[in-house]
Amino acid sequence: MAALARSVLVTGSNRGIGLELVRQLAASPWPPQHIFATCRDPEGPRGKLSSTLLFTPADAVNLPSIRGAVRAVGSHLKDQGLNLLINNAGVSSHATLRSLDSREMLSAFTTNVVGASVSLRQEFLPLLEKAAKGMGKEGLSCSRATVINISTKLGSIGLCLRVPEAPMYLYRASKAAQNMVTRCMAAELQDKGILCVAIHPGWVKTDMGTEKVLGCAPLMVEHSVQGILTVLASLSQDTSGAFLDWEGNTLPW
Ligand code: NDP
Repeated sequence: MAALARSVLVTGSNRGIGLELVRQLAASPWPPQHIFATCRDPEGPRGKLSSTLLFTPADAVNLPSIRGAVRAVGSHLKDQGLNLLINNAGVSSHATLRSLDSREMLSAFTTNVVGASVSLRQEFLPLLEKAAKGMGKEGLSCSRATVINISTKLGSIGLCLRVPEAPMYLYRASKAAQNMVTRCMAAELQDKGILCVAIHPGWVKTDMGTEKVLGCAPLMVEHSVQGILTVLASLSQDTSGAFLDWEGNTLPW
């Protein structure tokens, strides 16, 4: 059995789903050779990761900080590229139609769309392209070059789930926009050997998942992440540009 990928970078890795992704990747019987765990404040009270992983500070809304992370990752990988970028960092917002505020809207979009989706991927693209070319592999897979966008079912326009109980206009709109970015990048990058997929992690007991808008999140973070990693191992050309949940089911955009 081979590792999911030789090198993996997870954003927002100091807590919640990002932290558990890094933990399970590191604990796997076939761990990636390089795991890069980025977060805004690795030294802060919430930076809980082991020092055996390479930490890189990266604030998704701060371009110099993203560029610093790209340089640190690139120099660590030397002539290899980055195989798997898991774009997990995100913020929620509970704004309703009445309480919508343009500053909060810009803040949700800056983190979830401009920062987490566009800037990160743009800046890491050369390292992903290097991996796609250098692996001597055909087809699309996480072991070659992949961008995973952690999305949410609440951003699905097709489902438009439970709006009266959880309006969350800004969060939903920012994740729908992030989904569009994923879809466009999948179409543009698949010829370069890079797979792009959006994944809904389930409704998970994390700080974000227990904000009590809809009641109590049912899913343990360990369980969600086990599912996500199983789905990642199964990705191929057929799932390029897909929107999947943590159990591998296809969701409507
Ligand atoms: P948490 O609130 O527990 O963690 C969010 C993570 O994102 C933290 O590490 C946080 O870092 C980081 N982050 C926020 N803003 C930035 C930024 N500007 N730059 C870098 N990192 C940032 O949430 P979850 O673990 O639950 O969420 C992870 C992802 O899963 C999100 O994208 C979320 O939308 C998605 N999701 C979660 C669901 C759930 O039920 N939990 C359901 C559907 C989707 P810091 O500690 O510095 O704030």
